[in-house]
Amino acid sequence: MDICPKCGLPKEACICKELAKTKQKIKIWTTKRRFGKIVTLISGIESNTKETAKKLKAGLACGGTVKNNIIELQGNHPKEVRKKLIELGFSEENIE
Ligand SMILES: [Zn+2]
Repeated sequence: MDICPKCGLPKEACICKELAKTKQKIKIWTTKRRFGKIVTLISGIESNTKETAKKLKAGLACGGTVKNNIIELQGNHPKEVRKKLIELGFSEENIE
């Protein structure tokens, strides 16, 4: 019987794939910051977060930072971010 090295369960019962999927859910939302400035926040990008942020900033021509794996972009553009993430290869069904 094959045992998954990650979770120790038999391969048929392995839940790692499902877990990885839920973990990879990308969330995009906006919030108001000081002085009424709107920022767009993206969470759930676990790898290459900084690289992705860089590409989003370049694509949307806006400023932004990465804090605790959450990308923060200046301005209100959740739709554009979503489109850009799909262009970058993120699966649409993982984006909330
Ligand atoms: Zn497993």
